[in-house]
Amino acid sequence: MNAPSHSTLLAALATVIDPELRRPITELGMVESVEALDGGRVRAVVRLTIAGCPLRGTITADVTGALAKLDGVTDVDVELTVMTAEQRAELRERLKGSAPERGIPFNDEGSLTRIYAVASGKGGVGKSSVTVNLACALAARGLRVGIVDADVYGFSVPGLMGITQAPTRVDEMILPPVSHGVKVISIGMFVAGNQPVAWRGPMLHRALEQFLSDVYFGDLDILLLDLPPGTGDVAISVAQLLPKAELLVVTTPQAAAADVAERAGAIAVQTGQKIAGAIENMSFLTLPDGSTMELFGSGGGELLAKRLSQTVNSPVELLGQIPLDVALREGGDAGLPIVLSDPDSPAAAALLAIADRLAVRPRGLSGLSLGVTPR
Ligand code: ADP
Repeated sequence: MNAPSHSTLLAALATVIDPELRRPITELGMVESVEALDGGRVRAVVRLTIAGCPLRGTITADVTGALAKLDGVTDVDVELTVMTAEQRAELRERLKGSAPERGIPFNDEGSLTRIYAVASGKGGVGKSSVTVNLACALAARGLRVGIVDADVYGFSVPGLMGITQAPTRVDEMILPPVSHGVKVISIGMFVAGNQPVAWRGPMLHRALEQFLSDVYFGDLDILLLDLPPGTGDVAISVAQLLPKAELLVVTTPQAAAADVAERAGAIAVQTGQKIAGAIENMSFLTLPDGSTMELFGSGGGELLAKRLSQTVNSPVELLGQIPLDVALREGGDAGLPIVLSDPDSPAAAALLAIADRLAVRPRGLSGLSLGVTPR
């Protein structure tokens, strides 16, 4: 049998996607060489972005798999090397463009990314659980989704997403780990162990700015930010750093909780942000006999939506009501959000329905180039 041609080998390697950068390795300058040797053997030299690349095993396996599939190939030999500083600089340029200081890409005029900042009045209402489930639901719909866990004092997104891997650094560019198809960056990935973060406002602002400009998310359809509870520095920084971000306000059915959530939402008036909607979590518990129990009262979500509508003087909708569900908490503990682990459960169905509403919300087109030229 004839040995595969060089272009066939390259075409096979073009099917190998870098797990972090989410692009074919051939486009990333990662293929140093590939050649067919005698006797059905193929040898590929692949350049990793950094020496200790945590995904070297995955890349080797994927390259081997892609080449071994070709007719006439019986044996694949993969050698890993590491990019030189110049090659890394080239890669960075390819990914981010060559302008020296690019700032926050989500603010580029042509950026089509929808940004939702998930807020709540107080902790424990399920803001982080809602964030990760919406992200996974949207990613499962085929959208490109990222999460920034900006809940500095109570970061929990890596655990909820089952991420233990640290982000990879390519010089000053940070590659977010990917879990369940979602790119995730969290302040929790930059502190040792489980130490509490005791940063003050300006440092938080700087950290958030760095996340948003140095982390390579690539083109995203949707970016979700998990904000700390309340109306603190981070909420204001997000409004300044990402003026396009819209708020999703999470509350429980309790009227008192709706009051505090309203204050978190009302910050939008001061910062000029839009409110994308209210979400009620822990709405009721279905008992074994099929009846429901309103553990935290009722009406908080509706009340919040109504009050926010008045505050911002435009309609704010209640996007959904999520029941209490043991499986939701268990999914969080296991790092597999309930929309993936138990999509038919009532809680998952409520979350999926909210994700669907967010996925089809029209985005504002003002200021965007439509890419048409008059004839
Ligand atoms: P927050 O981000 O608002 O502090 P979390 O998402 O961390 O809240 O949720 C707090 C706790 O409540 C977690 O243990 C979580 O698993 C649990 N929880 C959240 N929503 C629900 C729900 N609908 N049913 C059952 N447990 C829930």
